Amino acid sequence: MTWNWQRTWRSCAIAAAAMLLAIPPVTNALADQAFRTWLEELWPEAKAMGASRAKFDLAFRGVEPDLTLPDLVIPGREVKEKKGQAEFTKTPQQYLDESYLTKLSAQGKTLKVQHQSALDRIERELRVDRHIVLAIWGRETAFGTYKLPHYAVKALATQAYLGRRKEMFRKELLFAIKMIEDKLATPEQMRSSWAGAMGLVQLMPSEFYLYPVDFDGDGRADMFGSAPDALATAAKQLLAKGWKPGVPWAVEVRLPAAIDCTLDGPDTAKSLSEWQRIGVTAAFSKKLPGKSTEEAYLVLPAGANGPAFLVYENFKVLRAYNPSDLYALFVASLADRIAGRWQLERPWAPLQILSTTELEEVQTRLKSKRFDIGAKVDGKIGTKTRTAVGLFQKSINQQPTCWPTAALLKDLRRATPEVVVGN
Ligand code: CA
Repeated sequence: MTWNWQRTWRSCAIAAAAMLLAIPPVTNALADQAFRTWLEELWPEAKAMGASRAKFDLAFRGVEPDLTLPDLVIPGREVKEKKGQAEFTKTPQQYLDESYLTKLSAQGKTLKVQHQSALDRIERELRVDRHIVLAIWGRETAFGTYKLPHYAVKALATQAYLGRRKEMFRKELLFAIKMIEDKLATPEQMRSSWAGAMGLVQLMPSEFYLYPVDFDGDGRADMFGSAPDALATAAKQLLAKGWKPGVPWAVEVRLPAAIDCTLDGPDTAKSLSEWQRIGVTAAFSKKLPGKSTEEAYLVLPAGANGPAFLVYENFKVLRAYNPSDLYALFVASLADRIAGRWQLERPWAPLQILSTTELEEVQTRLKSKRFDIGAKVDGKIGTKTRTAVGLFQKSINQQPTCWPTAALLKDLRRATPEVVVGN
């Protein structure tokens, strides 16, 4: 499909007419015209980045906004429940699913043997642990077996046109067009996540210009088909985000009675020797890994209802990939399992997760009581929300669990009757 100024002019006229008539929700035809207009405004930017009109048109052939994607703001449509990332809609037990981790770690052990020479070189030349790069590959695409459901250009165009983070996705969309122009991928190859990440280790389009390595020496960095290239690229990306060779990532710990779940999070980071002094030991009576000067902090993904972890500098690097404790813990535990050294001492207790709307209410009410819930009300159970829940529970003389439940929401409503939530 092609576009011309006549069409653009026509769509502007229709849009103007719609405004004059004050038609509230746009009809499909008008929405389509508005999207075409928006694409024409994108073209000069794509051209400035070196795209030809032919490749631009090829990239957008048949592309319409995909209104089923998460994280969109659609005028005239009230989105009650945001479909979010699994990192924030599943309980720790569901996300760190035992049987899935077991299955992936078995595959990872086979691939570790299969790609031994590339992994040897990654450790020697890039100094990133082989198990971590294997675990990233496993987490991102189940070692390339997960069929990515979207066409990157369509997903990115939708996010750039209707998403909550338009600017970021507009930039990524332009890089996706550039990728087609530069023959880094054909449109058919560009299968992606809903956020437009592609390839065996899920790179955003701009990252295809930063990290890819031709590690198997066939003359091209192949992020879609070459495991050595993708694994080395993951290592390079970790290094760029601050990976420190030889530093641990996470270890399950036993907490002394004096430590409760409100000590969760990077704000209470201490040296390893300090943690030892206050009685924190590794699970299974093992020694805490790392040097005594190493900085580490506690992560209790389920509050008091599950295992506690001491996490190190490199855990923060995993979080830089995807800013979620559960994501980083998944990669960390998969890496340890592939290395043959992980099992949980303390199992997860089965938990319910509140809806996004309820979690937003929990956060709003906590905030009204001056508990620190982090940057903003987002309906996600992060470290700060967990800690704030625990501090609130202590303030009403309850044993802190640091996990928001329906009962906690009731307690909060009682404690903050002045707060009006919702519409
Ligand atoms: Ca290659």
